[in-house]
Amino acid sequence: MVVIKSSRELEKMKESCRISANALKIAGKAVQPGVSTLEIDTVVRKYIEKAGATPSFLGYGGFPASACISVNNVVIHGIPSKKQILKEGDIVSVDVGAFYDGFHGDNAYTFKCGKVSPEAEALLEATQNSLFEGIKAAKAGNRIGDIGSAVQRYVEGRSYSVVRDFVGHGVGAKLHEDPSVPNYGTPGRGPRLIPGMTIAIEPMVNIGNYKVRVLPDKWTTVTADGSLAAHFEHTIAITADGPKILTIPDIE
Ligand code: MG
Repeated sequence: MVVIKSSRELEKMKESCRISANALKIAGKAVQPGVSTLEIDTVVRKYIEKAGATPSFLGYGGFPASACISVNNVVIHGIPSKKQILKEGDIVSVDVGAFYDGFHGDNAYTFKCGKVSPEAEALLEATQNSLFEGIKAAKAGNRIGDIGSAVQRYVEGRSYSVVRDFVGHGVGAKLHEDPSVPNYGTPGRGPRLIPGMTIAIEPMVNIGNYKVRVLPDKWTTVTADGSLAAHFEHTIAITADGPKILTIPDIE
């Protein structure tokens, strides 16, 4: 069931989304050669807790950390570890959510660790652009398929592929609500977008094939062909005046 938020609820969601976006920004600053992914997770958790919020992912379905940190060929759901030390040239996807005053915010960004290869650079740019293509299509009156097809067209036009096995989602009082928001689709198909809907659009893009594999830890999701992957996500609200990005940081 799709939950439509009142303007009062949307104001509350702005707060949880702002905290999520700040946590993501802080994570990005911590991405440096020599830093462990667990150290980044700790920075994220401490920020969220200091803001009076709760990390949305900690304990969700048994996930053991506050942020998913996914390096290089890991697409999503990487588990932070003190043994995983970042090195120059890595691409580091951080996905983080915060729960505050009854609502979640959810966002992700793939950061560069130092200088990365031109191939990685191009992948990140294309994936971030595809997110904005998806957001542009998220107009009231359009359908979910318009979002997915906008993302897919942009990504496949650059010879990359969009992951099929994981999709975006409604977000609100629950971290994952209806509807599913695939990063592929057919224009004019799927649930209609109505003002007051809040959704997380989150393209996961691989340089190679779209197929992914979940490792035996039941979380870490890698590209099946070992190619690099990127992941960008915003929580947005559908409004009568067009899509509004909610996950906007207010810290430098
Ligand atoms: Mg999400």
